[in-house]
Amino acid sequence: MNQTDQPALSVVAPCYNEEGVLPEFVKRVGAVLDGVGGTAEIVLVDDGSRDRTWAVMGEVAAIDPRVVGVRLMRNHGHQLALTAGLSVCRGERILIIDADLQDPPELLPDMIALMDQGADVVYGQRRVREGESLFKRATAAAFYRIIGRLTDVDIPSDTGDFRLVTRRVLDILLAMPERHRFIRGMVAWIGGRQVALQYDRKARAAGETKYPLMKMVRFAVDAITAFSVVPLMASMMIGWIMAAVGFAFFVYSIVGFMLGYNIPGWTSLMAAMGLLFGMQFLMLGIIGAYLGRLYDQNKGRPLFMIRDIVGGSGGGKQ
Ligand code: UDP
Ligand code: MG
Repeated sequence: MNQTDQPALSVVAPCYNEEGVLPEFVKRVGAVLDGVGGTAEIVLVDDGSRDRTWAVMGEVAAIDPRVVGVRLMRNHGHQLALTAGLSVCRGERILIIDADLQDPPELLPDMIALMDQGADVVYGQRRVREGESLFKRATAAAFYRIIGRLTDVDIPSDTGDFRLVTRRVLDILLAMPERHRFIRGMVAWIGGRQVALQYDRKARAAGETKYPLMKMVRFAVDAITAFSVVPLMASMMIGWIMAAVGFAFFVYSIVGFMLGYNIPGWTSLMAAMGLLFGMQFLMLGIIGAYLGRLYDQNKGRPLFMIRDIVGGSGGGKQ
């Protein structure tokens, strides 16, 4: 395939120490692509693996010419490895999938059918999660609940990055310059017609999870801070409360002084402390509010995203 022709479909999978599953992954994805027909590529990103993942990519690429292997300099983490793959892929439609076969590539035809009916994004939504510990399921459930509460974007629960997106959605995603990327949230934020497709999540085909607890916590922090300034706003709330408490102390000590039941020196001390602490917290809150706006601005997300244009000199779809 030369540079100019664009495959109808790209399958993009980040891979970190996945030597055990890659041959099986490419075989299964390849079979699905054969069934779907049309041109396709399978973009595999080696995220600085420590095992033979890169060598195995070479082997599978020799067997299946649709395979494109990309190797990163070092381990960048799931979301950035995926971003690398997404910026390399050239397909008209793009399937994002994990390499461990937890998400069945066999769903692709159903996803394509939904997209043919006008969906911009078809995301897989997990019905059950096999082979995952109670702890993993509980933390995942808590994660989606907190995200749902704190963010103003409607991020669907029980959804990974497994989804089919249009080139238009992908181009917008790639144009979002933020450094801490929570891709499933960013795609939800883009909007358009997002349709769920339910499926049963399987256990890993081989290898083990690359998301130990610390990574999950970091992921959650990224997710929340990327879509919410609620934690910053909390300082504003506390500021108001502390200011009110401080002012109450101020009044209380002054009144006490006038009624004459006070230790000498206590009044001025309490009055000053109450006022100053209250004001300090309030100021912190105000700084928090501005910082939140600055942060939003700094993310540099597009203000709006045009989906289609009809009429005018362009005459129809852009
Ligand atoms: N992954 C990656 N870089 C990392 C960690 C994970 O590219 O630093 C890939 C991994 O190979 C897999 C996907 O991201 O294809 C999801 O990781 P994993 O299956 O370990 O997460 P889980 O399904 O347990 O949440
Ligand atoms: Mg997995």
